[in-house]
Amino acid sequence: MPSMYDELLRLKTVAGEELSAITQIGELEPFRVKYLGRKGEFTLVMRQLGQAPPEERPRLGQLANEIKQDLETAFAAQESRLAESGGATHATFDLTLPGRTVPFGKLHPVTQVMDAVCAIFEGLGFAVAEGPDVEVDFYNFEALNIPPHHPARAMHDTFYVSDSLLLRTHTSPMQARIMEKEPPPLRMIAPGKVYRCDSDITHTPMFHQVEGFLVDRHISFADLKGVLSVFITKMFAENTPIRFRPSFFPFTEPSAEVDIGCVICGGKGCRVCKNTGWLEILGAGMIDPEVFKKVGYDPEEYSGFAFGLGIERIAMLKYGITDIRLFYENDLRFLSQF
Ligand SMILES: [Zn+2]
Repeated sequence: MPSMYDELLRLKTVAGEELSAITQIGELEPFRVKYLGRKGEFTLVMRQLGQAPPEERPRLGQLANEIKQDLETAFAAQESRLAESGGATHATFDLTLPGRTVPFGKLHPVTQVMDAVCAIFEGLGFAVAEGPDVEVDFYNFEALNIPPHHPARAMHDTFYVSDSLLLRTHTSPMQARIMEKEPPPLRMIAPGKVYRCDSDITHTPMFHQVEGFLVDRHISFADLKGVLSVFITKMFAENTPIRFRPSFFPFTEPSAEVDIGCVICGGKGCRVCKNTGWLEILGAGMIDPEVFKKVGYDPEEYSGFAFGLGIERIAMLKYGITDIRLFYENDLRFLSQF
């Protein structure tokens, strides 16, 4: 007669093999009765434990319990597997079902607006130039008529890398960089990332700007108005109201801020336009003669205009987005709407 120890191991093997061979859910219950039921083989062996020599009982009891638990776990797993596959062990495939499609990626809304802005200016004959995000103090400030300790620096909330290096606070440094290298006439735009130490529902520490400028003989404010009016009507709508308000920038003189009729309320007044009916969308002006002098242009001979606009701001107005931070939270529910 085999020892109880061998008998337990034999049962474990036999029951395990039998269980894994089951292919129909209806075969499970007979199996359970046969091995785990009140009169099942396993139960019978357990009952005989009392007949084993006393010193072997603890070891045998422990082994019997382990095997029984393993078998119950395997039984439950087999049961749920069979229930899921509808009773057959081989998964059935419906070959006529359409496959799962791979979702297509799309351009980020900021990229889409950036591309649209650049396309409009390229259509007007502007060339595109890109510059470094890490900029020297000279191009970001001094070449643009903002010397050290100028109060305008305080408005920029600059991230400094070192005393003379910084993350550019606007794309305007490209004006100085290009004019320094090339003689007029020039008609350029410089799109890119800019950085300011600022964060709330209308500011992010990194955002996008497009700087544009045109330099030639006999360029007047009328040319500036003409170019920007074409841009605004193409970007928003043909009949968008536009107004120029006097403003101040150190690198342009005279300077203006440009407003469009509120695209949300149509000029009636709402929360977004603070009940004015107008939304500011860009800053512009005639390039200051001091800037020309710094790059070696003769301000008596040449004149020009410059403008700068925020891409996120335009995207927010175009799509009616009230929180700029949504652009950078990578939430597909938001991004897939564009
Ligand atoms: Zn409004």
